[in-house]
Order: sequence, then C-alpha cells, then structure tokens
Amino acid sequence: MLTTAGSVEDPIANNFPAKAQRKTHLCKPASSLRVFRRLCVFAGKLLNISRRMQVFYTPRYYADIGDNHIFPIRKFELVRNKLLAEGTLKPDELVEPLPAPIEDVLLVHTNDYVSRLCSGNLTTKEIRRLGLPWSESLVRRSFYAAGGTLAATQVALAEGYSSNLAGGTHHSFSDRGEGFCVLNDVAIAVRAMRVRNLVRRAAIVDCDVHQGNGTATIFANDEDTFTFSIHGSNNYPLFKAQSTLDVELGDGTADDEYLECLANHLPTVFAHDPEIVFYLAGADPYAGDKLGRLALSIDALAERDNCVLRECFKREIPIVTVMSGGYGKDINDTIEIHCNTIRMVKEVFESRVAARRRA
Ligand SMILES: [Zn+2]
Repeated sequence: MLTTAGSVEDPIANNFPAKAQRKTHLCKPASSLRVFRRLCVFAGKLLNISRRMQVFYTPRYYADIGDNHIFPIRKFELVRNKLLAEGTLKPDELVEPLPAPIEDVLLVHTNDYVSRLCSGNLTTKEIRRLGLPWSESLVRRSFYAAGGTLAATQVALAEGYSSNLAGGTHHSFSDRGEGFCVLNDVAIAVRAMRVRNLVRRAAIVDCDVHQGNGTATIFANDEDTFTFSIHGSNNYPLFKAQSTLDVELGDGTADDEYLECLANHLPTVFAHDPEIVFYLAGADPYAGDKLGRLALSIDALAERDNCVLRECFKREIPIVTVMSGGYGKDINDTIEIHCNTIRMVKEVFESRVAARRRA
C-alpha cells in the first residue's frame, strides 16, 4: 500500500500547490466556475493585464538510462538551454514543477503498478516492455514530468496557455508502462482537474508519430475526453488501441498531405467542445527521425504546431503543450522542432493577444 511518504526524493508526497487546493474548496457549481474562469482569462488578456508565459522544466527531468540509449534523455535540458540562450524564454518564464502527488497519479494508475514502480519491483518483462532501465532517477523523473504537466494545466486554465518541457508519455497504461513511457502525465492531469471540478470536457490532440495507445485505452469509456491521434500506420505500436478518432498515415507521408489531413480532422475534435486541449507535439513525424516513418520537414512541423495552437486561440480554449517523442538522427533537429513549439506558443498567443489589444 502506498503512503504519502515516498522514498525517491519524496516524489509521492502530497505537494499539490496549496493555492490550487484552496481553489477547489470554492464550492461553486462546476459549470458556472468554468464559464467564469474562461471569461476572466480572456477578458483579462484583452484588458491588457500583462502576464508572463510559464513553461515548466526541472533538471530532475533527467534520469540515468545509460549513455547509448536511443531515448535522448538530455533533450529536455537542451531545449531549455536553447530557448533561454536565444531569448525566446526569459529566466523568470521557466518554472520548476513539483512532483505529481501520489493521489493524482492513482487517479489513473493502479496501486499495484505504482507501488512496484516506486519500490523497484517491476518484473523483467515489464522493464523490457518499458524500454528503459529502472532506477530511482527514472521514478523521480516520471513523477516530476507528470507534475510539470499538472502545473502547466493549472496555469493554462488560469492564463489560457502553458507548456511542459517534458511529458506526453502516451504509451503508459493504467497498470503498466511501455515505449519509454512510465506514467501517463496527460491522463493524470485530466483526471486531477476533473476531481477538482475545474474541467469536465477535455481533448487530447496527439501528433506524435506513434499512436497514443495508453491514453486511448485509459479514456476508452470516458465520453468527456476526446482522444485524437494522428500517426504512422506502420509505426509502433503494432496493435493499435482505439482512440475517439484515429488518423493513420502511410509511410513517407510528407508536408502537404499531413497538414491537409490534420486541418480536415481538427474540426471534429473541437466539435466535442473541450474546455481544455492537451497538445502532444511529438518531434518524431520528422523525415530525419530514427523511429518515425513519416517524412515531414521541420517547417511543416512548425506549421502543424501553428495549426493546433491557432484553433485553440481562435476558440479561446486553454491549451497545454507537452513534448512527447523525438529521435532525430541529428539530435539538434529534434531540439529545433521542440523549440519551435514553444516559439509558436509565444507567436500565436502573445503576439496575437497584443494585436487584439492594439485593435
Ligand atoms: Zn513517438
């Protein structure tokens, strides 16, 4: 049985921000609270209340998985460094998250799985399926990455947008991890917001090249969560789960076809009338990716980001961006694609909000 006293740098302590907990005790009916919040967010922006962007990152996103692992574990730090060095992010726009509280993690994952994960008792088969060697730093990293998405979700609900420089671990199921994904951060965030009556209807726009099989399975019977996955039909996983809407693309699908397909299907997602969108901006549909089978250019991936972000901005729906996969033959390409997502968040939200103010 898990307690609130975890052993891995206390990843499972109850440290959800006190402010947020107080917020949940404001016992307004959920629907009016949501409407009120949305009005405040966008009225505040239009009235020129300047707020800084908040992007979540911590050095604890790193875990020791060995030097030659195909998973580019240093990409989180490299993306952060590049965004800071070029001035896209100011130091005060980077915020360190807390680890996800155990009670939020258990809204998605089974007690048995989380218990054995934290105590280092996963089976050899489970670790093989996960594709990452178990270590305390891996457990810590997983709780912090989920905490980053949780924190970004809270900020997005208040400010309209936020990002986590990690997360999007969509191959994680309730009772197991696979495909480098230990905990399903987005599923945890959806459920955590729902139990706090902050969100009912959510949409997950998964543009990683691999199908979000864990996410699709977790929300299979949840009519309030729309799971959309646009992915390579011949990419992992071999056996796909059923999302609310799956779009499968053939090997070598390139820029125009991909962007047209995305634009054609996004209206179906928004017809669900989500109160928040989680955007998995995977870098692996890139032509130069080692694991992806699509053939998008870096520019087209930025246009993909623009397309999703613009639709949310237009409809005044809060959006959380998370990174997901990216295994470029040249890691600099992966870094550039992930950086583009944050640049585009700035461009779409900050510039356009400023333009609205001027108008
Ligand atoms: Zn992927």
